[in-house]
Amino acid sequence: MKTIRTAAVIGSGVMGAGIAALLANAGIRVRLLDRVPDRLTPQEEAAGKSLDQPDVRNRLASDALIRLKKTNPAPFYDDRYAERIIPGNVEDDFARLGEADWIIEAITERLDWKKELLTRIAAVWSPGTVVSSNTSGISIAAMAEAIGAPMKESFLGTHFFNPPRYMPLVELIPGLFTSSSVVSGMRHVLERRLGKGVVVAKDTPNFIANRIGTYGLLVTLKLMEEHGYTVEDIDAVTGPALGRPKSATFRTLDLVGLDTFVHVANNVFEHVEDPEEKEAFAVPGMLTDMVRRGWLGEKSGQGFYKKIKTDQGSRILALNIGTMDYAASGTVKSASLDAARSAKGAAGKCRALLSGEDKYSEMAWRVLKPVLLYAANKAFEIADTVADVDKAMRLGFNWELGPFEIWDAIGLANSAARMEAEGHVLPEWVREWIASGNESFYKRQDSTTFHVHHGRFIEQAVPPDHISLKALKAAGRTIVSNSGASLIDIGEEVACLEFHSPNNAIAADILTMIRKSAEEVRRNYRGLVIANEGRNFCVGANLMLLLMEAQEEEWDEVDRIIRMFQNAMLELKWLEKPVVAAPHRMTLGGGVEVCMAADMVCAYAETYYGLVEAGVGLIPAGGGSKEMASRAADSVEDPDGDLQPALNRAFETIGMAKVSGSAPEAVRLGLMRSSDRMVMNRELHLFEARLAVVELERNGIIAHGGKPVKVAGRNAKVVMQLGARTMLEGGYISPHDYKIASKLAHVLSGGDVPAGTLVSEQYLLDLEREAFLSLCGEPKTRARMQHMLATGKPLRN
Ligand code: NAD
Repeated sequence: MKTIRTAAVIGSGVMGAGIAALLANAGIRVRLLDRVPDRLTPQEEAAGKSLDQPDVRNRLASDALIRLKKTNPAPFYDDRYAERIIPGNVEDDFARLGEADWIIEAITERLDWKKELLTRIAAVWSPGTVVSSNTSGISIAAMAEAIGAPMKESFLGTHFFNPPRYMPLVELIPGLFTSSSVVSGMRHVLERRLGKGVVVAKDTPNFIANRIGTYGLLVTLKLMEEHGYTVEDIDAVTGPALGRPKSATFRTLDLVGLDTFVHVANNVFEHVEDPEEKEAFAVPGMLTDMVRRGWLGEKSGQGFYKKIKTDQGSRILALNIGTMDYAASGTVKSASLDAARSAKGAAGKCRALLSGEDKYSEMAWRVLKPVLLYAANKAFEIADTVADVDKAMRLGFNWELGPFEIWDAIGLANSAARMEAEGHVLPEWVREWIASGNESFYKRQDSTTFHVHHGRFIEQAVPPDHISLKALKAAGRTIVSNSGASLIDIGEEVACLEFHSPNNAIAADILTMIRKSAEEVRRNYRGLVIANEGRNFCVGANLMLLLMEAQEEEWDEVDRIIRMFQNAMLELKWLEKPVVAAPHRMTLGGGVEVCMAADMVCAYAETYYGLVEAGVGLIPAGGGSKEMASRAADSVEDPDGDLQPALNRAFETIGMAKVSGSAPEAVRLGLMRSSDRMVMNRELHLFEARLAVVELERNGIIAHGGKPVKVAGRNAKVVMQLGARTMLEGGYISPHDYKIASKLAHVLSGGDVPAGTLVSEQYLLDLEREAFLSLCGEPKTRARMQHMLATGKPLRN
């Protein structure tokens, strides 16, 4: 198999275009091909175009590229990556497919079309090129009939989920003839280069996630008709209360599109033999009726829900399947749902809901029971292991727990007994497993997980580059710890500082641990990684504490807190051992300042990164403003060069509280450096950050604190303030925004000094602190903080 540098994606629809963008994000050059249009659009006709002009012939793929740039959420990490995709068509560019290292077929889900295309590909295919199909359920073996022996070894299914950038699962489906080196090579590419979670699936209808997921949705619909449950009832039970996404059953169906869902369900219906299973996949008449009416879900404006506009704003109506009318969504009240809501973790929620005694607990059992039984019946027909089934459901449907994990959570033996008492027959292997005294499908011993496999527990192998802080802590590798953070030995003589305060917000306990970590690393380690396994890396400093002190007008205390923050950041900068920060997902305010104090940032690609202090009426004062001024100065290579343009950019980024939509975008905003690194696979994140520490140490890193900063001075400040004034006069910003911007301009320019003055880091930190303190005294700033704490959203005042 060739090293993947270039790829061709055929079919530029929803999936093909999304996959092309994902590959482009990973630095792979892509040719995106679609059919040649058979007629001109009215615009093309008006412009006097003809069907043989290249831009007309490439129109489908070119339009897909334009659509990608407008799609929300964004398929590209950075819009400029669109340049890595060359649009074309399957007639003029077909011979070029031979040059691609990987060809991905993502055309319409029709076996005859796919086979015809594969026959054509075989004619231009060169050995070593991998060919994969993105089919959602067509047999790989049936497609492979179209091609000859050598290419069959390089052909397999790579089933991405929609949208490809954001959905972590890829099912890898080897055909009968696929060589094992192609399977392992593609697993490597999908996991390492594209950051995906791979599950190897057997070549059965709809593979793993869509087989179980579709089954679950269909039984739910049938139970709803049978028992007269409402759309709201079902969604209240099948969402977070069962560890599933908020979109639950019906918003998920509306999002997927009912026509697509019917198509996917029919595929299983047509390809399974067992009459009972066939029956389960028969689409209920109500759904067929909805498709006939064109009520396809979100894309057609109505499905199980419908959004209407009223004088009071928009309202969501839910479908009454008895009358086929829409009515205002009712609220669902239930003690067992309340118990699930207040229970901790997905397992706790499932337990709480299932052990309740009301209608909703009963409903949850009715919905869940067939899915657990079906998963247990099908597991080894569709997947290699039960753990693969669970992983596919977690990554492909965003369930927090897969079916076997849920079964463990609610108690394997007692729920199996309940099923039998209700007249169900357990799969033979489950019955025997329980009969031999086992109480769960998984077990944990120290930091190792085992799962059931053909009548015994087998160890789940963890690759050596998947470092888990949780497992390391369980193995006693904590060096020092307090309520907000822990320092953990992560091997290779590297220590990791992990935040674990609520929301990973920074308060005094974390700052104390930063100081202690620096001391410990200085004496005993090669370097420090700052990372954690929370949902987000860090949402900033603890606003609540700050607001309380500000409301009490305890200015000395506010001053002390900021100094403590600033000093902790300096401690990191002055550390003569390498420090690598590894942010992921939301990384805001103080979280960014911690990263800026490190020698290098090794960011997860999905990092949403910004100095958002202005949103709460403040400016960054933990070194963030200083770092932005310093980086702006560093970016101007000419010693006599003008700092103003770089400074304006920093002013805009902080002043408008911009948050990047990815790590590469953070570089574009000047919040990360181009020398910082990016990792696409979250499971490898810590390993890569540790590697960065080791490499920096080998290269002889020296502490980078204490460097004087060349500032642009008073004229630059006036220019920035004028810019803000124009925005104020244009009505784009409020007077309070202007006040904040004005203080920010003062700090970034170094204050009232001549252009080119060299100032110390401490001087800039003092400016930051003074500005911050004075803003804390503003009632409008305090109102912003209060609003953020109460609603999680910024207040414009
Ligand atoms: P789509 O209808 O959005 O796009 C299909 C594209 O293929 C169209 O642009 C069409 O012009 C093009 N096409 C058809 N025949 C062609 C040919 N012979 N040569 C070149 N182009 C051709 O479909 P989609 O949703 O992107 O699905 C594509 C594939 O991915 C299907 O196999 C589907 O089952 C699978 N899939 C879809 C989803 C999903 O959520 N939509 C998820 C996973 C997999």
